[in-house]
Amino acid sequence: MLLALSTWPEIERYLGDNTGIIVPVGSTEQHGPTGFIGTDFITATAIAEGCGVQINCLVSPPITVGMAQHHMAFPGTITLRPSTFVNVIVDWITSLSKHGFRRIYFVNGHGGNIAPLITAFNEFYASLSVRAETEESSTLCKLANWWAMPNTDSIIKEIFADADGEHATASEIAVTQYIHPESIKPAPKDLEQAIHGSAALDIHNAYDYRQRFVDGRIGSDVREANQKDGEKVFKKAVSEIAEDCTSFIRS
Ligand SMILES: [Zn+2]
Repeated sequence: MLLALSTWPEIERYLGDNTGIIVPVGSTEQHGPTGFIGTDFITATAIAEGCGVQINCLVSPPITVGMAQHHMAFPGTITLRPSTFVNVIVDWITSLSKHGFRRIYFVNGHGGNIAPLITAFNEFYASLSVRAETEESSTLCKLANWWAMPNTDSIIKEIFADADGEHATASEIAVTQYIHPESIKPAPKDLEQAIHGSAALDIHNAYDYRQRFVDGRIGSDVREANQKDGEKVFKKAVSEIAEDCTSFIRS
């Protein structure tokens, strides 16, 4: 069930016996020479919607733009400032909580969103803590980074090993190839070996990033990406997240 395709009376009925909602969150940023700029929100949205169908849970419209300043030296990237992103998430949670959603489960597709998402949860909790206790005081948020869920991470390592890399990973590109087979971009013949590194720890800004990771990838061999493996990773992520989300909603 998608919030975007529901009517308000349907949401009112849903809230009568369900207070869980899944929120996909991603980024609009370069993913190397073969990856879609929408990779992070495309994967998060498809996995969130797959999970919503499996466990009969409402799915929010995706948050398609996140914290992507590292990628701004590559055309097409759109970023929010960290403070803007935190405010967007806090307002999203505040709106859902106001309607009676008490378990808000974020399916995230982008590593750069993790720190601001946790900050946003704490901003929201802080706003509850300084008010008198109400029904809303029981609202909880949870973050699931789909690629890092233990079983999904294992299958990614098993299939792609070192070729997966750290940005524009072979696995996430494989998942987008499974979701959008009509738009697959073949890897260029002269594709160079990508350098391994960590965007989170080493990189200051977009110019630094582009200088060190010239085609946008970090460590990934995108020639390994294919639809069949994308399907395996996607299905594992959906079932693992469905299980985790179910126990969160029941908590
Ligand atoms: Zn990505």
